[in-house]
Amino acid sequence: MNEFQVAVLPGDGIGREVMAVALEVLEVLESRFGLGLALQHHDGGAAYYRETGRDLAPGVMEACRSADAILFGAMGLPDVRFPDGTEIAPHLDMRREFGLFAGVRPVRALPNTPAILAHPRAAEIDFVIIRESMEGLFASRGVGYVEDDRIARETMVITRDNCERLFDFSFRLAERRKAKGRPGRLTCVDKANVFVAMAFFRKIFDERAKGFPDIRADHHYVDATALDLLRKPWEFDVMVMENMFGDIISDLGGGLVGGMGLAPCAEIGLEHALFQPSHGSAPDIAGQGIANPTAMLLSTAMMLDWLGERHGQESMVTAGATLERAVDLAFAGGAVPRDLGGRHTTTELAKAVIDQLDAAASAIG
Ligand code: ATP
Repeated sequence: MNEFQVAVLPGDGIGREVMAVALEVLEVLESRFGLGLALQHHDGGAAYYRETGRDLAPGVMEACRSADAILFGAMGLPDVRFPDGTEIAPHLDMRREFGLFAGVRPVRALPNTPAILAHPRAAEIDFVIIRESMEGLFASRGVGYVEDDRIARETMVITRDNCERLFDFSFRLAERRKAKGRPGRLTCVDKANVFVAMAFFRKIFDERAKGFPDIRADHHYVDATALDLLRKPWEFDVMVMENMFGDIISDLGGGLVGGMGLAPCAEIGLEHALFQPSHGSAPDIAGQGIANPTAMLLSTAMMLDWLGERHGQESMVTAGATLERAVDLAFAGGAVPRDLGGRHTTTELAKAVIDQLDAAASAIG
Protein backbone atom coordinates (compact mmCIF):
# COMPACT_ATOMS: atom_id res chain seq x y z
CA MET A 1 0.00 0.00 0.00
CA ASN A 2 1.16 3.52 -0.69
CA GLU A 3 2.18 5.61 2.25
CA PHE A 4 1.63 9.34 2.15
CA GLN A 5 3.73 11.53 4.40
CA VAL A 6 1.81 14.39 5.96
CA ALA A 7 3.74 17.10 7.81
CA VAL A 8 1.55 18.23 10.72
CA LEU A 9 2.23 21.68 12.21
CA PRO A 10 -0.33 22.62 14.89
CA GLY A 11 1.35 25.97 15.69
CA ASP A 12 -0.13 28.38 18.23
CA GLY A 13 -3.30 29.09 20.17
CA ILE A 14 -6.44 27.54 18.75
CA GLY A 15 -4.33 26.10 15.91
CA ARG A 16 -3.31 23.36 18.37
CA GLU A 17 -6.89 22.79 19.53
CA VAL A 18 -8.48 22.48 16.10
CA MET A 19 -5.57 20.36 14.87
CA ALA A 20 -6.02 17.92 17.77
CA VAL A 21 -9.60 17.17 16.78
CA ALA A 22 -8.78 17.08 13.05
CA LEU A 23 -6.26 14.34 13.82
CA GLU A 24 -8.91 12.40 15.75
CA VAL A 25 -11.21 12.60 12.75
CA LEU A 26 -8.38 11.54 10.45
CA GLU A 27 -7.75 8.51 12.64
CA VAL A 28 -11.35 7.39 12.21
CA LEU A 29 -11.15 7.96 8.45
CA GLU A 30 -7.87 6.06 8.36
CA SER A 31 -9.43 2.98 9.93
CA ARG A 32 -12.48 3.19 7.67
CA PHE A 33 -10.76 3.91 4.35
CA GLY A 34 -7.21 2.60 4.91
CA LEU A 35 -5.73 5.85 3.67
CA GLY A 36 -2.08 5.03 4.36
CA LEU A 37 -1.28 8.41 5.87
CA ALA A 38 1.94 8.70 7.88
CA LEU A 39 1.73 11.78 10.10
CA GLN A 40 4.92 13.57 11.15
CA HIS A 41 4.43 16.16 13.89
CA HIS A 42 6.58 19.28 13.84
CA ASP A 43 7.18 22.18 16.20
CA GLY A 44 7.01 25.78 15.14
CA GLY A 45 5.20 29.07 15.59
CA ALA A 46 5.32 32.10 17.84
CA ALA A 47 5.38 30.30 21.20
CA TYR A 48 8.17 28.10 19.87
CA TYR A 49 10.04 31.21 18.72
CA ARG A 50 9.66 32.76 22.19
CA GLU A 51 11.25 29.68 23.74
CA THR A 52 13.95 28.93 21.20
CA GLY A 53 14.54 31.97 19.00
CA ARG A 54 13.52 29.95 15.92
CA ASP A 55 10.17 30.04 14.14
CA LEU A 56 10.45 26.41 12.99
CA ALA A 57 12.31 23.53 14.60
CA PRO A 58 15.51 22.53 12.78
CA GLY A 59 14.83 20.54 9.62
CA VAL A 60 11.10 21.30 9.47
CA MET A 61 11.25 23.22 6.18
CA GLU A 62 13.05 20.28 4.56
CA ALA A 63 10.61 17.79 6.12
CA CYS A 64 7.73 19.80 4.64
CA ARG A 65 9.46 19.88 1.27
CA SER A 66 9.72 16.12 1.16
CA ALA A 67 6.23 15.49 2.59
CA ASP A 68 3.29 14.70 0.30
CA ALA A 69 1.15 17.35 2.00
CA ILE A 70 1.37 19.89 4.81
CA LEU A 71 -1.42 20.19 7.37
CA PHE A 72 -1.18 23.45 9.26
CA GLY A 73 -3.07 24.84 12.27
CA ALA A 74 -2.27 28.50 12.85
CA MET A 75 0.93 30.32 13.69
CA GLY A 76 1.52 33.74 15.17
CA LEU A 77 0.81 35.61 18.41
CA PRO A 78 0.37 39.38 18.45
CA ASP A 79 2.93 39.98 21.20
CA VAL A 80 5.67 37.78 19.72
CA ARG A 81 7.59 39.44 16.90
CA PHE A 82 10.85 39.23 15.02
CA PRO A 83 13.27 42.06 15.85
CA ASP A 84 12.06 43.95 12.73
CA GLY A 85 8.50 44.00 14.14
CA THR A 86 6.96 41.47 11.75
CA GLU A 87 4.88 38.53 12.99
CA ILE A 88 6.00 34.92 13.08
CA ALA A 89 4.44 33.48 9.91
CA PRO A 90 6.40 30.49 8.54
CA HIS A 91 3.53 29.58 6.22
CA LEU A 92 4.31 32.73 4.22
CA ASP A 93 7.88 31.46 3.80
CA MET A 94 6.51 28.10 2.70
CA ARG A 95 4.27 29.78 0.14
CA ARG A 96 7.37 31.29 -1.46
CA GLU A 97 9.72 28.29 -0.93
CA PHE A 98 7.29 25.75 -2.34
CA GLY A 99 5.73 27.89 -5.09
CA LEU A 100 2.20 27.73 -3.66
CA PHE A 101 0.67 29.94 -6.33
CA ALA A 102 -3.04 29.17 -5.88
CA GLY A 103 -4.82 30.11 -2.64
CA VAL A 104 -8.07 28.17 -2.79
CA ARG A 105 -10.86 29.42 -0.52
CA PRO A 106 -14.19 27.65 -0.83
CA VAL A 107 -17.19 29.70 0.34
CA ARG A 108 -20.23 27.54 1.03
CA ALA A 109 -23.28 28.06 3.23
CA LEU A 110 -23.51 25.22 5.76
CA PRO A 111 -26.92 24.01 6.96
CA ASN A 112 -28.44 25.85 9.92
CA THR A 113 -25.78 28.55 10.03
CA PRO A 114 -26.98 32.13 10.51
CA ALA A 115 -28.01 33.67 7.18
CA ILE A 116 -25.93 36.80 6.75
CA LEU A 117 -27.99 37.84 3.72
CA ALA A 118 -31.75 38.06 4.15
CA HIS A 119 -32.52 36.32 0.89
CA PRO A 120 -33.96 32.82 0.42
CA ARG A 121 -31.18 31.90 -2.00
CA ALA A 122 -28.46 32.65 0.57
CA ALA A 123 -28.49 28.95 1.50
CA GLU A 124 -27.33 28.19 -2.07
CA ILE A 125 -24.03 30.05 -1.74
CA ASP A 126 -21.31 27.73 -3.03
CA PHE A 127 -18.36 29.24 -4.82
CA VAL A 128 -14.57 29.07 -4.73
CA ILE A 129 -12.18 32.00 -4.69
CA ILE A 130 -8.75 31.34 -6.14
CA ARG A 131 -6.31 33.95 -4.98
CA GLU A 132 -3.05 34.19 -6.91
CA SER A 133 -0.52 33.94 -4.10
CA MET A 134 2.99 34.50 -5.45
CA GLU A 135 2.95 37.89 -7.15
CA GLY A 136 0.46 40.69 -7.99
CA LEU A 137 0.73 43.70 -5.71
CA PHE A 138 2.29 41.52 -3.00
CA ALA A 139 5.37 41.11 -5.22
CA SER A 140 6.20 44.57 -3.96
CA ARG A 141 6.75 43.36 -0.37
CA GLY A 142 10.27 44.33 0.54
CA VAL A 143 10.69 46.30 -2.70
CA GLY A 144 8.27 49.21 -2.23
CA TYR A 145 9.74 52.40 -0.87
CA VAL A 146 9.04 55.96 0.18
CA GLU A 147 10.93 58.67 -1.71
CA ASP A 148 12.02 61.75 0.29
CA ASP A 149 9.02 61.35 2.58
CA ARG A 150 6.85 62.60 -0.30
CA ILE A 151 5.98 59.67 -2.58
CA ALA A 152 5.47 55.98 -1.82
CA ARG A 153 5.72 53.46 -4.65
CA GLU A 154 4.64 49.82 -4.85
CA THR A 155 4.76 47.81 -8.06
CA MET A 156 2.39 45.09 -9.23
CA VAL A 157 3.98 42.13 -11.02
CA ILE A 158 2.06 39.73 -13.27
CA THR A 159 4.03 37.05 -15.12
CA ARG A 160 2.86 34.87 -17.99
CA ASP A 161 4.23 31.61 -16.56
CA ASN A 162 2.52 32.06 -13.24
CA CYS A 163 -0.78 33.12 -14.86
CA GLU A 164 -0.80 30.12 -17.17
CA ARG A 165 -0.44 27.62 -14.32
CA LEU A 166 -2.92 29.57 -12.19
CA PHE A 167 -5.61 29.66 -14.89
CA ASP A 168 -5.09 26.03 -15.91
CA PHE A 169 -5.49 25.02 -12.28
CA SER A 170 -8.62 27.17 -11.99
CA PHE A 171 -10.23 25.76 -15.14
CA ARG A 172 -9.52 22.21 -13.98
CA LEU A 173 -11.14 22.97 -10.64
CA ALA A 174 -14.21 24.33 -12.44
CA GLU A 175 -14.29 21.13 -14.51
CA ARG A 176 -14.18 18.94 -11.41
CA ARG A 177 -16.97 20.94 -9.81
CA LYS A 178 -19.00 20.72 -13.00
CA ALA A 179 -18.68 16.93 -12.91
CA LYS A 180 -20.33 17.14 -9.48
CA GLY A 181 -23.23 19.27 -10.72
CA ARG A 182 -21.99 22.83 -10.39
CA PRO A 183 -22.48 25.21 -13.36
CA GLY A 184 -18.97 25.00 -14.82
CA ARG A 185 -18.15 28.68 -14.81
CA LEU A 186 -14.83 30.45 -14.18
CA THR A 187 -14.83 34.20 -13.66
CA CYS A 188 -11.66 36.24 -14.05
CA VAL A 189 -11.92 39.11 -11.55
CA ASP A 190 -9.77 42.05 -12.54
CA LYS A 191 -9.54 45.76 -13.26
CA ALA A 192 -8.55 45.38 -16.89
CA ASN A 193 -10.19 48.68 -17.84
CA VAL A 194 -7.59 50.64 -15.86
CA PHE A 195 -4.34 48.71 -15.41
CA VAL A 196 -2.04 47.33 -18.09
CA ALA A 197 -1.01 44.49 -15.77
CA MET A 198 -4.66 43.53 -15.34
CA ALA A 199 -5.34 43.65 -19.07
CA PHE A 200 -2.37 41.30 -19.47
CA PHE A 201 -3.83 39.03 -16.76
CA ARG A 202 -7.15 38.94 -18.62
CA LYS A 203 -5.50 38.35 -22.00
CA ILE A 204 -3.72 35.25 -20.69
CA PHE A 205 -6.97 34.09 -19.06
CA ASP A 206 -8.72 34.29 -22.45
CA GLU A 207 -5.89 32.39 -24.13
CA ARG A 208 -6.04 29.56 -21.58
CA ALA A 209 -9.85 29.46 -21.73
CA LYS A 210 -9.60 28.09 -25.28
CA GLY A 211 -8.21 24.84 -23.84
CA PHE A 212 -11.31 24.35 -21.65
CA PRO A 213 -14.31 24.68 -24.00
CA ASP A 214 -16.71 23.03 -21.51
CA ILE A 215 -16.25 25.80 -18.97
CA ARG A 216 -17.99 29.14 -19.34
CA ALA A 217 -15.19 31.68 -18.99
CA ASP A 218 -16.17 35.26 -18.22
CA HIS A 219 -14.79 38.44 -16.64
CA HIS A 220 -15.97 40.73 -13.89
CA TYR A 221 -14.41 43.94 -12.64
CA VAL A 222 -13.42 43.66 -9.00
CA ASP A 223 -15.62 46.56 -7.86
CA ALA A 224 -18.69 45.04 -9.56
CA THR A 225 -17.74 41.70 -8.02
CA ALA A 226 -17.84 43.18 -4.52
CA LEU A 227 -21.32 44.49 -5.25
CA ASP A 228 -22.57 41.23 -6.77
CA LEU A 229 -21.18 39.18 -3.92
CA LEU A 230 -23.68 41.02 -1.74
CA ARG A 231 -26.51 41.09 -4.30
CA LYS A 232 -26.35 37.57 -5.80
CA PRO A 233 -23.42 35.49 -4.54
CA TRP A 234 -25.25 32.26 -5.47
CA GLU A 235 -24.53 33.00 -9.14
CA PHE A 236 -20.75 32.59 -8.79
CA ASP A 237 -18.97 29.28 -9.26
CA VAL A 238 -15.16 29.57 -9.44
CA MET A 239 -13.42 32.97 -9.40
CA VAL A 240 -9.74 33.66 -10.01
CA MET A 241 -8.01 36.92 -9.18
CA GLU A 242 -4.81 38.79 -8.45
CA ASN A 243 -3.27 38.48 -4.97
CA MET A 244 -4.43 41.75 -3.37
CA PHE A 245 -7.94 41.45 -4.78
CA GLY A 246 -8.08 37.86 -3.51
CA ASP A 247 -6.96 38.96 -0.07
CA ILE A 248 -9.90 41.34 0.21
CA ILE A 249 -12.57 39.41 -1.66
CA SER A 250 -11.93 36.22 0.29
CA ASP A 251 -12.65 37.98 3.58
CA LEU A 252 -15.88 39.24 2.07
CA GLY A 253 -16.63 35.67 0.97
CA GLY A 254 -15.91 34.27 4.44
CA GLY A 255 -18.14 36.92 5.98
CA LEU A 256 -21.02 35.94 3.68
CA VAL A 257 -21.29 32.47 5.20
CA GLY A 258 -20.59 33.07 8.87
CA GLY A 259 -16.99 34.00 9.41
CA MET A 260 -13.54 32.69 10.13
CA GLY A 261 -14.41 29.53 12.00
CA LEU A 262 -16.03 28.13 8.85
CA ALA A 263 -13.50 29.20 6.19
CA PRO A 264 -11.08 26.51 4.96
CA CYS A 265 -8.07 27.18 2.78
CA ALA A 266 -5.63 25.30 0.58
CA GLU A 267 -2.40 26.74 -0.80
CA ILE A 268 -1.56 24.76 -3.89
CA GLY A 269 1.60 24.56 -5.99
CA LEU A 270 2.74 22.22 -8.75
CA GLU A 271 4.54 19.86 -6.34
CA HIS A 272 3.44 20.89 -2.86
CA ALA A 273 0.32 21.93 -1.02
CA LEU A 274 -0.48 23.31 2.41
CA PHE A 275 -3.91 23.05 4.04
CA GLN A 276 -4.99 25.30 6.88
CA PRO A 277 -8.02 27.11 8.25
CA SER A 278 -8.21 30.75 7.12
CA HIS A 279 -8.27 31.97 10.70
CA GLY A 280 -5.31 32.74 12.93
CA SER A 281 -4.38 31.55 16.41
CA ALA A 282 -7.19 33.61 18.09
CA PRO A 283 -5.40 34.13 21.43
CA ASP A 284 -8.56 35.68 22.89
CA ILE A 285 -10.32 32.30 22.98
CA ALA A 286 -7.32 29.94 23.08
CA GLY A 287 -7.15 27.44 25.93
CA GLN A 288 -10.90 27.41 26.54
CA GLY A 289 -11.77 24.54 24.22
CA ILE A 290 -14.40 26.59 22.41
CA ALA A 291 -12.76 27.19 19.01
CA ASN A 292 -14.85 26.19 16.04
CA PRO A 293 -12.96 23.34 14.30
CA THR A 294 -15.06 23.44 11.10
CA ALA A 295 -12.55 25.38 8.99
CA MET A 296 -9.80 22.96 10.06
CA LEU A 297 -11.95 19.91 9.31
CA LEU A 298 -12.92 21.24 5.88
CA SER A 299 -9.26 22.03 5.14
CA THR A 300 -8.42 18.44 6.10
CA ALA A 301 -11.09 17.24 3.67
CA MET A 302 -9.48 19.38 0.96
CA MET A 303 -6.13 17.74 1.71
CA LEU A 304 -7.60 14.26 1.27
CA ASP A 305 -9.25 15.31 -1.98
CA TRP A 306 -6.01 16.82 -3.32
CA LEU A 307 -3.86 13.83 -2.33
CA GLY A 308 -6.37 11.38 -3.75
CA GLU A 309 -6.75 13.26 -7.02
CA ARG A 310 -3.02 13.72 -7.44
CA HIS A 311 -2.12 10.11 -6.73
CA GLY A 312 -5.16 8.46 -8.33
CA GLN A 313 -6.38 7.16 -4.94
CA GLU A 314 -10.14 7.03 -5.26
CA SER A 315 -10.66 6.01 -1.63
CA MET A 316 -8.79 9.12 -0.48
CA VAL A 317 -11.06 11.34 -2.62
CA THR A 318 -14.08 9.53 -1.16
CA ALA A 319 -12.73 10.03 2.38
CA GLY A 320 -12.46 13.78 1.72
CA ALA A 321 -16.00 13.94 0.34
CA THR A 322 -17.23 11.88 3.30
CA LEU A 323 -15.68 14.26 5.81
CA GLU A 324 -17.16 17.28 4.02
CA ARG A 325 -20.58 15.64 3.98
CA ALA A 326 -20.30 14.64 7.64
CA VAL A 327 -19.67 18.30 8.55
CA ASP A 328 -22.87 19.23 6.70
CA LEU A 329 -24.82 16.48 8.42
CA ALA A 330 -23.51 17.52 11.84
CA PHE A 331 -24.71 21.08 11.28
CA ALA A 332 -28.00 19.85 9.80
CA GLY A 333 -28.42 17.69 12.90
CA GLY A 334 -28.18 20.66 15.24
CA ALA A 335 -24.48 21.06 16.06
CA VAL A 336 -23.78 24.77 16.58
CA PRO A 337 -20.33 26.03 17.61
CA ARG A 338 -19.86 28.84 20.11
CA ASP A 339 -18.82 31.47 17.55
CA LEU A 340 -22.20 30.99 15.86
CA GLY A 341 -24.08 31.39 19.12
CA GLY A 342 -24.34 27.68 19.94
CA ARG A 343 -23.11 25.48 22.78
CA HIS A 344 -20.80 22.98 21.08
CA THR A 345 -17.21 22.99 22.27
CA THR A 346 -14.38 22.08 19.92
CA THR A 347 -14.44 18.41 20.90
CA GLU A 348 -18.24 18.20 20.92
CA LEU A 349 -18.43 19.57 17.40
CA ALA A 350 -15.76 17.15 16.20
CA LYS A 351 -17.66 14.30 17.89
CA ALA A 352 -20.86 15.35 16.11
CA VAL A 353 -18.92 15.14 12.83
CA ILE A 354 -17.44 11.73 13.68
CA ASP A 355 -20.92 10.49 14.57
CA GLN A 356 -22.09 11.40 11.06
CA LEU A 357 -19.27 9.69 9.14
CA ASP A 358 -21.26 6.47 8.61
CA ALA A 359 -24.31 8.33 7.34
CA ALA A 360 -22.08 10.52 5.14
CA ALA A 361 -20.31 7.49 3.67
CA SER A 362 -23.60 5.82 2.75
CA ALA A 363 -24.99 9.07 1.31
CA ILE A 364 -21.94 9.26 -0.96
CA GLY A 365 -22.20 5.58 -1.82
P1 ATP B 1 -4.23 36.31 11.80
O1 ATP B 1 -3.74 37.68 11.46
O2 ATP B 1 -3.19 35.45 12.45
O3 ATP B 1 -4.97 35.62 10.70
P2 ATP B 1 -6.37 37.60 13.11
O4 ATP B 1 -5.90 38.61 14.06
O5 ATP B 1 -6.87 38.05 11.79
O6 ATP B 1 -5.28 36.48 12.93
P3 ATP B 1 -7.86 35.41 14.11
O7 ATP B 1 -6.85 34.77 14.96
O8 ATP B 1 -8.26 34.70 12.89
O9 ATP B 1 -7.48 36.89 13.81
O10 ATP B 1 -9.14 35.67 14.98
C1 ATP B 1 -9.99 36.77 14.82
C2 ATP B 1 -11.16 36.57 15.78
O11 ATP B 1 -12.05 35.63 15.21
C3 ATP B 1 -10.67 35.99 17.07
O12 ATP B 1 -10.59 36.99 17.99
C4 ATP B 1 -11.68 34.94 17.44
O13 ATP B 1 -12.58 35.47 18.38
C5 ATP B 1 -12.43 34.66 16.15
N1 ATP B 1 -12.10 33.34 15.61
C6 ATP B 1 -11.17 33.06 14.67
N2 ATP B 1 -11.15 31.76 14.41
C7 ATP B 1 -12.08 31.19 15.19
C8 ATP B 1 -12.54 29.85 15.39
N3 ATP B 1 -12.03 28.82 14.70
N4 ATP B 1 -13.51 29.64 16.28
C9 ATP B 1 -14.06 30.65 16.96
N5 ATP B 1 -13.68 31.93 16.83
C10 ATP B 1 -12.69 32.21 15.96
